[in-house]
Amino acid sequence: MAWRRKPEKPCSIVARAIEVYGDLDPDECGGVCPTGALRFEAGRVVTEPSLCLVCLACMALCGPSRVRVVSEWVCPE
Ligand code: SF4
Repeated sequence: MAWRRKPEKPCSIVARAIEVYGDLDPDECGGVCPTGALRFEAGRVVTEPSLCLVCLACMALCGPSRVRVVSEWVCPE
């Protein structure tokens, strides 16, 4: 069996956008995001993809089809 060498720099998943559809309920969704990439400020939803870990907790817990995290794998060349 041939062993493949482990890449020196592994690939990582990166959020490109956080799309919100309709209204989110702060009681339901306010504390879901561990990094503040999706948060409420003055009652409005603010998204910051650069903080997103792509954990997908918001997609699972903010209500059916209310949040979509657009992401892609980035690998070293
Ligand atoms: S995927 Fe995770 S880190 Fe990114 S916005 Fe959703 S809850 Fe926050």
